[in-house]
Amino acid sequence: MSKSYVYDAIAVGSGPNGLAAAITLARASRSVLVLEAKDTVGGGMRSAELTLPGFVHDVCSAVHPLAVGSPFFRVLPLAEHGLEWIYPPAALAHPLDDGTAVIVERSVDATSETLGRDGAAYRRLMKPLVADWDKLAREFLGPLRFPRHPLAMARFGVLALWPASTLARLLFRGERARAVFAGLAGHSILSLDQLATAAFGLVESILAHAVGWPIPRGGSQSIANAMASYLRSLGGEIVTGRPVECIEELPPHRTVLFDVTPRQLVRIAGKHLPAGYRRRLGGFRYGPGVFKMDFALDGPIPWKAKECLRASTAHLGGTLDEIAAAERAVWKGEHPDRPFVLLAQPSLFDPTRAPAGKHTVWAYCHVPNGSTFDMSDRIKAQIERFAPGFRDRILACHTRTAVDVERYNPNYVGGDINGGVQDLRQLFTRPVARINPYTTPAKGIYLCSSSTPPGGGVHGMCGYFAARAALRVL
Ligand SMILES: Cc1cc2nc3c(=O)[nH]c(=O)nc-3n(C[C@H](O)[C@H](O)[C@H](O)COP(=O)(O)OP(=O)(O)OC[C@H]3O[C@@H](n4cnc5c(N)ncnc54)[C@H](O)[C@@H]3O)c2cc1C
Repeated sequence: MSKSYVYDAIAVGSGPNGLAAAITLARASRSVLVLEAKDTVGGGMRSAELTLPGFVHDVCSAVHPLAVGSPFFRVLPLAEHGLEWIYPPAALAHPLDDGTAVIVERSVDATSETLGRDGAAYRRLMKPLVADWDKLAREFLGPLRFPRHPLAMARFGVLALWPASTLARLLFRGERARAVFAGLAGHSILSLDQLATAAFGLVESILAHAVGWPIPRGGSQSIANAMASYLRSLGGEIVTGRPVECIEELPPHRTVLFDVTPRQLVRIAGKHLPAGYRRRLGGFRYGPGVFKMDFALDGPIPWKAKECLRASTAHLGGTLDEIAAAERAVWKGEHPDRPFVLLAQPSLFDPTRAPAGKHTVWAYCHVPNGSTFDMSDRIKAQIERFAPGFRDRILACHTRTAVDVERYNPNYVGGDINGGVQDLRQLFTRPVARINPYTTPAKGIYLCSSSTPPGGGVHGMCGYFAARAALRVL
């Protein structure tokens, strides 16, 4: 960093979106500098030995259908920079109290066979949507625009706008299909009675069939490392251990793209933003937080339904009614006795995650924003319910309350991992309603984090679109 040099762009923050923005600018031959507060790159894509030596845990993201389904990631040569995707035999296991499990396989037909009398309805629902994924990806993973594929969007939209609990009851008669759809929709971190929560259930299941739910060899840090390596190969610079407190301290630049949420943007650059825009940013809503656990285990999880060992991810919460009640409680500011737990078991498929014969497990549940409540007993009880003997396999565990999650990364305000609520009102109009939501009224200042469309997840699309907006001016 020389004092007189003027960068075309600076990205503040090296999450998937900060790196995606920097890569997009560097690919257009612009000079780019990334400033990251922490000592390593990656934001939500970091891995660390959180429990015992030799046990590598994903601190935040673990399973990456959105990355392999992302039009942005698809064009990057990340394999040449060390990224290797591992595809477990099945995407998802949803165990039930009768000791069986619904398995979401890559094939729609094979999945529908585990759904009993709802098999045919599932096939009818999913086949056209899966066939449309490439068209839907462009529409769904980006800002609101006039659809290029109106028919595909209409087919999806007419289903997606329903509350997930209503659509599950309308489409399916049996508990198995309803339960698995509820778990998939639970990724919305909304109450499943809210409009458009069905969209999340549909997108997650389309991704399972269209592209799979892979994990990166070595943990999500490998995605960050590959992106950083590719950026450097394009001439981009990265400085870690460099928190940015105010815009005046940045080296000379023409544009700056902030991989932060509205609250931090106001703190860092507020005096450059008009009062009206600042006020609208103040109205941005953050959603529930997460309580996160990482386990080092003496062996694999002793699932009652052995087929759960074929999937990287498991959804623990039983029936549609139970999952809907848990997510509704969180929205009311309560801590459910039986939380909906999202669990990943990466070491079953990636031997680099744990010493031979040992295993790592990643699990979290939703809690009210800003919660300091310890959910560890309730999470362990949910795992034990479907895998008796689980507790006896625990060698060590690491926990983070919602407030700890924010302390780890200030972008997770109150523990909200999506950079703000993703309900119908704030899905496309994030951070505020604006023709180009990545721009701000201040010249040269852009927002590129998951607080812009399409929101949370490791897909890089927020960064890509923000960089495109900056490039138009550069
Ligand atoms: C427990 C958990 C589980 C998750 N699971 C998944 C999953 O399985 N799959 C998935 O796709 N997604 C998952 N996510 C969500 C995903 O991690 C986020 O949506 C994604 O990382 C958001 O990317 P981002 O670039 O917008 O921000 P972030 O990844 O949060 O990156 C922001 C970066 O900016 C840095 N920063 C912030 N302020 C400053 C500053 N002032 N100066 C300098 N640097 C700064 C931060 O240190 C951070 O590195 C999970 C998240 C969590 C916490």
